[in-house]
Amino acid sequence: MLRDLTEDRFYKENEVKPKSFEDLIKEVHEKGICGECGGCVSFCSAAEIGAIDISPSGLPYYSNKDNCLHCGICYLICPEIHELDKELNEKFNFKPPIGTWSKIVTAQASDPQIQKFATDGGVVTAILIALLENNLIDAAIVSKKIGPFQRTPFFAKNKQDIIEAIGTNYNIEGPVSELGKYNTFVPTITELKKVVGSDKMKLAVVGVPCQIHSIRKMQELKIIPAHVVEYTLGLFCYENFKFNDAVRARTEERFNFSFIDIEKMNIKENLIINLKNRDKPLTIEFSEMQDVMRNACRVCENFTNYYADISFGGVASKQGFTTTLIRTKTGEKIYNLALNKGYIEEPAELNTSLEKSKMIAQIISFSKKKSRRAEEYR
Ligand SMILES: Cc1cc2nc3c(=O)[nH]c(=O)nc-3n(C[C@H](O)[C@H](O)[C@H](O)COP(=O)(O)OP(=O)(O)OC[C@H]3O[C@@H](n4cnc5c(N)ncnc54)[C@H](O)[C@@H]3O)c2cc1C
Ligand code: SF4
Ligand code: SF4
Ligand code: SF4
Repeated sequence: MLRDLTEDRFYKENEVKPKSFEDLIKEVHEKGICGECGGCVSFCSAAEIGAIDISPSGLPYYSNKDNCLHCGICYLICPEIHELDKELNEKFNFKPPIGTWSKIVTAQASDPQIQKFATDGGVVTAILIALLENNLIDAAIVSKKIGPFQRTPFFAKNKQDIIEAIGTNYNIEGPVSELGKYNTFVPTITELKKVVGSDKMKLAVVGVPCQIHSIRKMQELKIIPAHVVEYTLGLFCYENFKFNDAVRARTEERFNFSFIDIEKMNIKENLIINLKNRDKPLTIEFSEMQDVMRNACRVCENFTNYYADISFGGVASKQGFTTTLIRTKTGEKIYNLALNKGYIEEPAELNTSLEKSKMIAQIISFSKKKSRRAEEYR
C-alpha cells in the first residue's frame, strides 16, 4: 500500500510536509478566492492522476481523493499561491506596477471583417491567424460566445474557427441551457488537458492574467500540459463578473436596459455595452458592478498580464484599436511577423511618443488602482 504522505506520523518535528489539494481547499477555496482558472485540474488530469475535477459551478473538487498522490503540484501552480512567483519575476524581469515591456503600440487588424467583430482592434485575432497561416501553431485555445455574458473554451484549428471565436455579436439563439448563466470568465486552460498526448503540437493560448500565470508556473516546473503552449497572448483584466437571473433582472432595472438588446460588450476603462436600440453605448463604472464582481478578482493585483508574451487591452486606445504591450522576445517575433506580413496596422499619428506616454500613464494608473483594491481587501 502507498504511504499517505499527509499523515503527520511520517514527519519529524520541523520537517516540511508536501502540500496537496487539501491545502488549496484551506488556503484558497475556504477564503473564497479560487479564480476557477482550472490550472490545478489541467495538470492532475493531464497526468492521468484523476484526483480532482471541475464541478458544474466552476470550482475544482476532489472527485477521487484516493487517487491523490499528495504531489503538491496543484498547490504550486495555483495563481493564488505565491510560491514560484520569485522565480517567475526573475525570469520575466518583473518590475512593478506593469511588468517588463519592450514596445507599446495602438494597432488594429487590417482585415475589415475582423475589425467589425473584434472586441477592440482585433489585434489578438490577427496575430492568431498570422501564427496559423505561417505554420507556427497547430491550433489556438480561445473562447467562443454561447449566450448572454457566457463563453465556452474553444479549440480553434483554422482561420474560420478563430474568427468565429471573436463573437462579440450577441447571439440570442445560443443553447437554451446556457441562458441564465452570466459569467465573463471562461476556464479556457482546462482545454489543455485534451492535447497532452501530442508532444509535437504547438499552441497559442489567449487568457486573462490568472490563467497565463498558472500556465507560466507549469512551464517553470516543466510539467504537462503546458509543454504544448508556445505563445501566450494575455488580456488586460481589471475584474470579471458572475451572476444569476435575479441579479441580471436587478442590473437591467438599475441601468435601464435589457440583456436581450445587447449587441456587443467590452471591458476597457469601464464596462461598455452596445445596445440594438441606442445610438450611444451604455457605460457602467467598475465601481457600480461591485456586487457582481467575482470574489477572486478582489484580491488580484495583476491588471496587465505580467507574464504573457504580449498583453492586450482596450484602455488608452481609441475605439476600434487595441493597446498592445509587447513583452518577451517571442512576443516581438510574432508581433513583427503579423505587422510585416500585413495582418496588423499601426497608424503613425496614433503612435507618436506623446501618445505612447499617455498610454503608459493610463495603464500604470489602472494597475495601481487594482493593486490598491487588492491591498484594501486583504
Ligand atoms: C474578462 C475580460 C476582462 C477584460 N478587462 C479589461 C480591462 O479591464 N481593461 C482593458 O483595457 N481590457 C480588458 N480586457 C481586454 C479587452 O477586452 C480585449 O480583449 C483586448 O483589448 C483585445 O482586443 P482585440 O480586439 O485585439 O481582441 P479580439 O481580436 O477581439 O480577440 C479577443 C480574443 O479573446 C478571447 N476571449 C474573449 N473573452 C475571453 C475570456 N473571458 N477569457 C479568455 N479569452 C477570451 C476571444 O476568444 C478572442 O480570441 C478584458 C478582456 C476580458 C476577456
Ligand atoms: S495528485 Fe497532486 S495534483 Fe492531483 S490533487 Fe493530489 S496533490 Fe494535487
Ligand atoms: S489553480 Fe485555479 S482553479 Fe485551482 S484552486 Fe487555484 S485558482 Fe482555483
Ligand atoms: S481580475 Fe484577476 S482573478 Fe479576476 S479574472 Fe482577472 S486575472 Fe483572473
